[in-house]
Amino acid sequence: MSKTVFFFGEGRAEGDPKRKDLLGGKGAGLAEMTALGLPVPAGVTLSTEVCNALNADAKSIRDDAGLRSTVLEALARVEAAQGAKLGDPTQPLLVSVRSGARASMPGMMDTILNLGMNDAVAEGLASRTGSPRFAYDAYRRFIAMFSDVALGVKREHFDHALEDGRAAVAKAKGVDTTRLNGEELRRKVPDSELPAEQLRQIVTAYKAVVKRETGKDFPADPHEQLWGAIDAVFQSWKNHRAVVYRRMNDIPDAWGTACTIQAMVFGNLGDTSATGVAFTRDPSTGEKRLYGEWLPNAQGEDVVAGIRTPLPLSAGRGDASEQASSLEVKLPEVYKEFVALADKLERHFRDAQDIEFTVQSGKLYMLQCRSAKRTGRAAVRTAVEMAKEGLISKEEAVLRVDPAAIDQLLHPTLDPAAPKKLLARGLPASPGAAQGYIVFSADEAERRAGQGKPVILVRIETSPEDIHGMKAARGVITARGGMTSHAAVVARGMGKACIAGCSAVAVSYQAQTMTITVYGEDGKPTETVTLKKGDLITIDGSTGSLYEGAVPTVPAGLGGEFGELMVWADAARTMKVRANADTPLDARIARGFGAEGIGLCRTEHMFFEEERIAAMREMILSDDEASRKRALAKLLPSQRDDFVGIFREMNGLPVTIRLLDPPLHEFLPNDERQLEHLASVMGVSADKLRQRTKDLHEFNPMLGHRGCRLAITYPEIYAMQVQAILEAAAIVAKEGVVVLPEIMIPLAISKAELVKMRAIVDAAKADVAATSPAVAFTFGTMIELPRAAIMAGELAEVADFFSFGTNDLTQATMGLSRDDAGKFLPAYLEAGILPKDPFVSLDREGVGALVEMAAERGRAKKPGVKLGVCGEHGGDPASIEFFQKVGLAYVSCSPFRVAIARLAAAQAALRARKS
Ligand code: PEP
Ligand code: MG
Repeated sequence: MSKTVFFFGEGRAEGDPKRKDLLGGKGAGLAEMTALGLPVPAGVTLSTEVCNALNADAKSIRDDAGLRSTVLEALARVEAAQGAKLGDPTQPLLVSVRSGARASMPGMMDTILNLGMNDAVAEGLASRTGSPRFAYDAYRRFIAMFSDVALGVKREHFDHALEDGRAAVAKAKGVDTTRLNGEELRRKVPDSELPAEQLRQIVTAYKAVVKRETGKDFPADPHEQLWGAIDAVFQSWKNHRAVVYRRMNDIPDAWGTACTIQAMVFGNLGDTSATGVAFTRDPSTGEKRLYGEWLPNAQGEDVVAGIRTPLPLSAGRGDASEQASSLEVKLPEVYKEFVALADKLERHFRDAQDIEFTVQSGKLYMLQCRSAKRTGRAAVRTAVEMAKEGLISKEEAVLRVDPAAIDQLLHPTLDPAAPKKLLARGLPASPGAAQGYIVFSADEAERRAGQGKPVILVRIETSPEDIHGMKAARGVITARGGMTSHAAVVARGMGKACIAGCSAVAVSYQAQTMTITVYGEDGKPTETVTLKKGDLITIDGSTGSLYEGAVPTVPAGLGGEFGELMVWADAARTMKVRANADTPLDARIARGFGAEGIGLCRTEHMFFEEERIAAMREMILSDDEASRKRALAKLLPSQRDDFVGIFREMNGLPVTIRLLDPPLHEFLPNDERQLEHLASVMGVSADKLRQRTKDLHEFNPMLGHRGCRLAITYPEIYAMQVQAILEAAAIVAKEGVVVLPEIMIPLAISKAELVKMRAIVDAAKADVAATSPAVAFTFGTMIELPRAAIMAGELAEVADFFSFGTNDLTQATMGLSRDDAGKFLPAYLEAGILPKDPFVSLDREGVGALVEMAAERGRAKKPGVKLGVCGEHGGDPASIEFFQKVGLAYVSCSPFRVAIARLAAAQAALRARKS
């Protein structure tokens, strides 16, 4: 291992700040800010390699004397820079020990503040600062945090001791506490009103908790504390919530976290001290304005945890009292300096920054900067505006926006015309509209969502333990917390609608109710509404509004900055993007999203409609060709109408129509009543139908009588479909529509099969020619089976185009049923056997190798063979990058993913050009 311990302080930083992979995002940001000359307390970062090495061998830093002495050497430099010493009561140094991975994982791993505290240091700190209250408050916070994270003593034990302390203070004030719950008591006696003497007693009580729970004294030696904290931070890489977060965000387990030990500065030293969080652009909308929150006389965790409701940073907005409480008004010099530094950071990193700062007795310190997490809407606006400001190029703007994040922009919003009853307003923490049933716990959210129920998770505040529930819910409401609270940050990252700090809502977990004080226009309370678990509500995270019941929604608009970004993306793109669409309506929606054709029209869906299914069943249940043809003739007009509608919508663009694919039994009646009804319509006995249904039963329908195998036995089915396509094409061509049909054969495995299919097509073409003018079309096949990929050279002799059906190709190549794998695939992902669900993101090494082989063999035989993909992977950004490498002409995906695919294809092209 090369260098693993990196010092930063006094304007110098070791290590390359570009190496987030080694220093973690936090360590890299601190190194870079230090080197830029910003006021940053000195510190030391242990690299991710240390984490990986220790975790791999399940070792502690206590097992590595060499590493410990390197850390202590670096720490000595921190002590020198700060003029203080760990454990020295006369000049005490306290440090924070924080996690920080390459990608930001807010709140998912552990952090310890105020490390270095013991009885002597607390006394020393009390006399140095002249504030015993401050010293013992820091001490009790440290014991609770360290014990929770490093000693495994549950937080609630300390909460009880703290509550006892609060109750004692309340009693002394003459308050009757017997009926108050923890929350009400906290409101009566907030942390800031616990006197020094009480805090001293709380510290004693906390130490007793540790002794009781662990059987040992709380460690007083600061070095012992340090080793314990470092171990805990590295181990927190593997805790449950961090693992869940990594799965959701595709962060590899192998990255590991860095650990940064940094001198503490204190925002809770009185009225000229403060702590805050700021974004250089609004993280919800992307608007260019310094956006943030602060709390006077507080520590950073108070802002993030939402324990006190923070105040605005700038005076520009809000009502008079908000303006008066802003940092700009209260500490104008600090504000001015901060604005200048924030601007400097944004220009340096050429991206919107998320900054944490602390003011200690009037002096500003920068504690963290990182690229700001933002909503899809904010990502688009920031990228476009930065390009216009000349900070980045248009290509960089295109590369800046995560295609998955624009999904949020494509979501519907509340119908402005729909009647709705506003119950309350909170902070617009994460945009989007969502309806669902109220649940009050993350577990319940997960359970109910698992049963297919849409739910809204309602919490007083959220913590990292709630992440699985937030993931499962459609939206989140918290009664407390600001725009940078856990709920707000995580919801934005997930693209979930969220209202934070909805203070008109009083949540009772015990009663499973939320009681809302509804205010009128004049700001006076008009009524109280109590909703219980299971009641329906609607939230609008863009405005922070909570409504009664389910309010209808309307589709999203795609103009503005989004439109501009997409123009730049389209200019960069080399692959076309088509849509999978089966109806004229789907086709219209797809065009609205910018689809450049239909890559897959699945014709089977057309036969499920009420009047058609009867004719379809009649066709299937017939036992001779003549009756089959009679039934098919009934289907022909409606099938032709379908194509007419689609061709009109797609005027000028290619439309790939796949002939019938699924096994026939999928169309059969599945209950006795339907069967008897059908028998009477067809004029045959129910027994005969029952027998025929039995005959059609297959043990393995996915590998059975389906795809073009149907047309080997019943060529008349495809003949009818081709006739419908060509007649429809002639009809619309006559209207002046430019029609480009592509007839596609599913599930082929050999040239001989395709030759037969081509003969059916040609015969139908000849029949149609008798009545309709000819329209040009192409003929191609899907590549959905390993044999088709292997025999692609031969298939290309007959096919004008290939479309990779990567759904079936994945199923057949991996031997995983696409309908059943959901039951056991999560275990594969959990164990790291597969990196991702192969039905979502293409398995490049396996299935991808077949795609490459087929492309190569097809092109070798027919250089002009057109290649595309129409499996679900056509809308997955990572798979799109692969298809770019293979050189496909287009990807095709569901209409709602077309915009995502356009952006992903642009990024793939730009990256390919770069490399
Ligand atoms: C495929 O198999 O990838 C495909 C697009 O066809 P379907 O999903 O209809 O089987
Ligand atoms: Mg298929």
